[in-house]
Amino acid sequence: MNGTQPIFILPEGTLRTTGRDAQTKNIAAAKEVADNVRTTLGPKGMDKMLVDSIGDVTITNDGATILNEIEIVHPAAKMIVEVAKTQDDEVGDGTTTAVVVTGELLKKSEQLLEQNIHPTMIIRGFRQAKIKALEILQKISEDITIDDTDTLEKIAMTAMTGKGSEAAKDSLAKLAVQAVKTVGGRNRDDIKIEKKQGGSMDDTELIKGIVIDKEIVHANMSKSVKNAKIALLDAAMEVKETETNAEIRITDPTQLQAFIEQESRMLKDMVKKVVDSGCNVLFCQKGIDDLAQHYLAKQGVSAARRVKKSDMEKLAKATGANVVSSIEELSKTDIGEAGLVEEVKIAGEEMIFVRECKDPKSVSILVRGGTEHVVDEAKRAMDDAVLGVMSAAEIGKVVSGGGSIEIELSRKLREYAETVGGREQLAINAFAEAVEIIPRTLAESTGKDAIDLLVNLRSQHEKGNTNYGVDVIKGELTDMKKAGVVEPLKIKTQAIKSASEASEMILRIDDVITSKTSSGPPAGGMPPGMGGMEY
Ligand code: ADP
Ligand code: MG
Repeated sequence: MNGTQPIFILPEGTLRTTGRDAQTKNIAAAKEVADNVRTTLGPKGMDKMLVDSIGDVTITNDGATILNEIEIVHPAAKMIVEVAKTQDDEVGDGTTTAVVVTGELLKKSEQLLEQNIHPTMIIRGFRQAKIKALEILQKISEDITIDDTDTLEKIAMTAMTGKGSEAAKDSLAKLAVQAVKTVGGRNRDDIKIEKKQGGSMDDTELIKGIVIDKEIVHANMSKSVKNAKIALLDAAMEVKETETNAEIRITDPTQLQAFIEQESRMLKDMVKKVVDSGCNVLFCQKGIDDLAQHYLAKQGVSAARRVKKSDMEKLAKATGANVVSSIEELSKTDIGEAGLVEEVKIAGEEMIFVRECKDPKSVSILVRGGTEHVVDEAKRAMDDAVLGVMSAAEIGKVVSGGGSIEIELSRKLREYAETVGGREQLAINAFAEAVEIIPRTLAESTGKDAIDLLVNLRSQHEKGNTNYGVDVIKGELTDMKKAGVVEPLKIKTQAIKSASEASEMILRIDDVITSKTSSGPPAGGMPPGMGGMEY
């Protein structure tokens, strides 16, 4: 026997890449994803047109949306998509920033790997840099409260920049801030952002209450109820077959009559209980029988049925009503209030507006826009604005944008690297350089000499002009704080966290084993360059 016979531990057909080769490929794939969204960064960022497999078109500038819509198969590239998702979940904005910084961190680590610096050393340096970066960010941020309307509106406007809602930015920003202030809050579910094609972006409105995609169920019910007293019922106003005597055998017409009368009496009884609670509007999570609808209408109660559970919860928060799960239990103390409940036809579809609630803990914003694509992008802009304002109010800290915070962070990280020394210093410096990708990309988007802008920007910061950044529209440097480009601190801290964690994870991998049965390519399938996927 030949003692050097190889031992196979993996099934035949398994693809395997190891060592530097694995790292290089993973880094390349991740970088590619980052490069793809990079051009969308900032107010002059370009849009992407995404066409899915059934031909639906999305036009967007939103990093999270882009990465959500395109199909990515490479495992390392998928980790970048995760970065965007985390950023979106945690903050709702800053997805492009997080992804672009991740890409740049990986690019810098590749250079370090080429200098034969071990991945563990890079990872250690990146970790130190991350901890320091969070500390620095915390230090250079400024405090705000929920009463700083002016700053909050600037945050909303900065968040909406470049998302195709420029024309109505001022009014949309005001609505976003008003909404957050009304619910006083932190919970993003408390602000429902609905969109309806038609009208123009200026028709976007804040409803101090809720708008639901339902109609008043019966033609004889009032479509506009002032001083609404609202009941929320999570029970059917129907007579289930099991509740009536299923055994009765109808042998003559009087029995049928009795049967119908019994059913109608039960429904009448249910309606009486609802009416006795003192309500004039009923939102029912389940069905309402035709006859019950008729009785309700006669008693002057307007009703909607099959209301979504999530909307019922919002109705409760907005009106102060309790959701009651049995008609028997419905009482006067469960009733909520709204100044007006009305059914309105918006773009050909009925919607119910519950307005003028006193101190609502849940509100709605109905976003309007002339075409489907306009209204879609306007809604995304509004999502970002509301979440930006919320996270600024929640953490109570803001920073100036336009790349100013990143330049300052980079400068301070370099100072810190000096104090560390050794090989980690190289990694920390690489981290510092990577962060500069944000001002660099913004500078590039101006169409002016980006290197020139960046050099001047660094020297402004050396001079102590710590709020200086890139005025992308004018293509010059300016004090971003004075220019009103303000962002919540959380966007930046979360981006740094996700970016360093993701790059760490990718750097740690030195072996990629792809089994034959995965969705990967068949072993020995397509020759290289023929569209086959190579991990
Ligand atoms: P992200 O998905 O990361 O939020 P955006 O496309 O929204 O990406 O771009 C955000 C970047 O654009 C931030 O660095 C922000 O400071 C910058 N920015 C926003 N508005 C302006 C402006 N008017 N001038 C300069 N930079 C801006
Ligand atoms: Mg943004």
